[in-house]
Amino acid sequence: MHNDRKSDDVLVIGGGVIGLACAHYLRQARRAVRVIDQGTVGAGASHGNCGLVFTSDLVPLCAPGAVRQGILGLLRRTSPLFIKPTLDMGRISWLLRFAGMCRVDHVRHAIRARAAILKSSGHLYEALLGPGGLEAEYEKRGVLLVYRSEAAMQGYAAVNDLLRPHGLAAEALAGKALLDVEPALREDVYGAWYHRGDSHLRPDKLLASWKQALVRSGVVIEEDCRLERFRCAAGCVEAAVTNRGEYAARDFVLAAGAWSVPLFARLGLKLPMQPGKGYSITMERPAVCPQIPCYLYERRVVATPWPSGYRLGGTMEFSGFSTALNPRRLAALTAAAGEYLTDPVGHPVVEEWTGLRPMTYDDLPVIGRAPRFRNLTLATGHGMLGVTTAPATGKLVAEIVCSAPPHIDPEPFSVSRFQ
Ligand SMILES: Cc1cc2nc3c(=O)[nH]c(=O)nc-3n(C[C@H](O)[C@H](O)[C@H](O)COP(=O)(O)OP(=O)(O)OC[C@H]3O[C@@H](n4cnc5c(N)ncnc54)[C@H](O)[C@@H]3O)c2cc1C
Repeated sequence: MHNDRKSDDVLVIGGGVIGLACAHYLRQARRAVRVIDQGTVGAGASHGNCGLVFTSDLVPLCAPGAVRQGILGLLRRTSPLFIKPTLDMGRISWLLRFAGMCRVDHVRHAIRARAAILKSSGHLYEALLGPGGLEAEYEKRGVLLVYRSEAAMQGYAAVNDLLRPHGLAAEALAGKALLDVEPALREDVYGAWYHRGDSHLRPDKLLASWKQALVRSGVVIEEDCRLERFRCAAGCVEAAVTNRGEYAARDFVLAAGAWSVPLFARLGLKLPMQPGKGYSITMERPAVCPQIPCYLYERRVVATPWPSGYRLGGTMEFSGFSTALNPRRLAALTAAAGEYLTDPVGHPVVEEWTGLRPMTYDDLPVIGRAPRFRNLTLATGHGMLGVTTAPATGKLVAEIVCSAPPHIDPEPFSVSRFQ
């Protein structure tokens, strides 16, 4: 049944949005590709996220003031940030390193790197999702960052100034001007920053459509196939050892999202990432449904509308790899939406969901060759922007694997920054 497995050219481990994007551009570079996933393709973090293609999100989470704000937020029961008390040295060290990154020089460095990958992804999505392309309910309506208080809205002005040189500054809207743009908002919200150039899509549809297109193009996709470890020799990976036997290949791409950490550790290598658990509730569209995705800023909740439905999503919980649903955090999503939207909830609820974001402490993804193993490339650590940055990641991975000139500077994403 698996006679062809010995001859794999490139084996991609992980069928999330990142793994599929890598497979896409590797196939476009005429490589023969197999994708394996321990479950179903697209069932990880890439399934129930908010679907923003948020190309103006240049500023990393680890910005000056982030720790103070986070600690203050932790004191609220409904805080969008939750850090489970722990003696786990990995998590403690991650948090300390995150705090250490909240510096102006890192923000400048991260903005440059994020600008490149975000801009490239935006262009690539236009091609991928254009007429005759992937189907994902893609719409370019912008994103509104909505505020209940004037002080919070003014807090974003400094961020907006950083976006200006990149041509990504948002427009401030308040009162009638805001309600004209988005009539689903409550009259008592203070205002919003409107990022007109951003877009959104329905991630589950994107993944389903991308999977089909890849299979049509000759990519082999194998589900329920779990990587257990790598078999290595003389500085290269020879085979992926899975629950279905061994898969030899010329090149390997590790794109297993948050789960990349334990897999990488089996090679004796460290990947300082933590799973950042998020929640979402998918519903039918409410009677008064937003037309534009709204980031309900003080509560860090996103309301995303699609022609086929509506989703509330958010929360960042550092509590390990459990994907158990916490009813209190789900309730916090709908309560938050009620503070900003006239009709915050649609009926019936279609799905309640959690997913694990692969979070690096410097809020930059990890894209590049693994140290010590010349035929293993990593594509993970995309944090809150994996859907947005998938196309440029896939293209860069294909360039690295094929030793072609990179279309963006790969250095800021290199694994070696952690060594
Ligand atoms: C609530 C929430 C909202 C979000 N909103 C947005 C948004 O609006 N815009 C945006 O850009 N991003 C958003 N994100 C982030 C985005 O979802 C992630 O960055 C992205 O999905 C990560 O993709 P991935 O392919 O790396 O990981 P995943 O989608 O998790 O895929 C990894 C895959 O690897 C497989 N795997 C794991 N271990 C193994 C193994 N041993 N063997 C084989 N396969 C394995 C898993 O089964 C999984 O399918 C959000 C995330 C959350 C949680």
